[in-house]
Amino acid sequence: MGSMTVPSTNAETKALDKAHVLHSWSAQASFDPLVIAGGLGCQVWDFEGTRWLDFSSQLVNVNVGYQHPTVVAAIQEQAGLLATIGPATANATRSEAARRILAHAPHGFSKVFFTNGGADANENAMRMARLTTGRDKVVSHYRSYHGNTGAAIVATGDWRRVPNEFARGHVHVFGPYLYRSEFWATSVEEEGARALHHLERVIQAEGPDSIAAILLETVPGTAGILVPPPGYLAGVRELADRYGIVLILDEVMAGFGRTGSWLALDQEGVVPDLITFAKGVNSGYVPVGGVMVSDRIAHHFDDRVFPGGLTYSGHPLAAASILGTLDAMESEGIVEHAAEIGRDHLGPQLAALGEKHDLVGEVRGRGVFWAVELVADRATRQPLGAGEMGRLKKDLLHRGLLPFIQDNRLHVVPPLVVTADEVARGVQIIDRALAAL
Ligand code: PLP
Repeated sequence: MGSMTVPSTNAETKALDKAHVLHSWSAQASFDPLVIAGGLGCQVWDFEGTRWLDFSSQLVNVNVGYQHPTVVAAIQEQAGLLATIGPATANATRSEAARRILAHAPHGFSKVFFTNGGADANENAMRMARLTTGRDKVVSHYRSYHGNTGAAIVATGDWRRVPNEFARGHVHVFGPYLYRSEFWATSVEEEGARALHHLERVIQAEGPDSIAAILLETVPGTAGILVPPPGYLAGVRELADRYGIVLILDEVMAGFGRTGSWLALDQEGVVPDLITFAKGVNSGYVPVGGVMVSDRIAHHFDDRVFPGGLTYSGHPLAAASILGTLDAMESEGIVEHAAEIGRDHLGPQLAALGEKHDLVGEVRGRGVFWAVELVADRATRQPLGAGEMGRLKKDLLHRGLLPFIQDNRLHVVPPLVVTADEVARGVQIIDRALAAL
């Protein structure tokens, strides 16, 4: 590795990691990370030559796969030209990255605020909503993840919020999730209509004049890949308009091709006021995220100071990696490929697994964004226990598949460039592992 001195064995890497790295979301003593030495396309490997087919895209971000040559070349070229520059300058690569991102936004969006990742994109979107409305509260779903900074973690609905609940003004509602309906619904239409009724009642009870924003993932990801009922997000848009609330759609995980369209919101026919993005915009090759800002909100800051900023906002290496990624995605038809893989391969093959294994309670998703929900009992829908999910994870790894497991679900989220052969191979591994379980 050039002039860098770093370990070159599994054992040395793990020993150094154990000694010096404090890992996310883990009790450190029992945490046992995989050593990854390299990757290409949809495969990763360790120093001993063990290979895994990646059905996780790491944290659902490596959309164009590992070491995509166009993205690597764009970063290398920019590193040779200008490796860093502050946010208060005009930088050609940054400006062009903003223009290219906005080419995939709905009509009426012409500014991007760049951040270092998804959480701070949501922080800044909430800030913009609060400053433009003069209101404080943010409504989001319990089943959601919005990031791990001050307000973003409090907007998050799941257990990760609870030990971090310092920021003010967050209100949660139950979103639609027919398989485990909070609304006693028996059809997708009922679930959508009742979730909207619940949301409106909470808005009224909280006091509409106190609510700055509704912040929702277009398709909640980590919470279970919960594709919204037809018309749900359009109904949320109507409520936001009725009560003067800013609608923020979080496209951090679902955006940039994951659902088989450029943005997940393209399939919902809904235009929010702010769109947050990260992950897929550059496949995570350099940390970056941002907010696409609609003209009305952008104009609010024409003659008023926008009181936000980051040292690395619009970092040139990140901007170059965005240009490389968008070049690759556009010229190789990667978004169209993701839609086709979902429709013709992943969707039908996962549905067949659901027919075959009693452990499968529900299969849902679109594009290259699928959840297989595992249950101990199909009738009661009791989630499969943590012990069995742990055994499943271990077995999948042993069989050469890198899985994304969350609670009682297997999320099937390979890079968007996954081939039909790789899908067949991965689904066969899952089939065998479910049979063994
Ligand atoms: N929003 C969503 C929907 C996410 O899935 C994530 C991360 O998983 C985030 C925000 C936070 O992004 P980051 O980890 O880049 O801060």
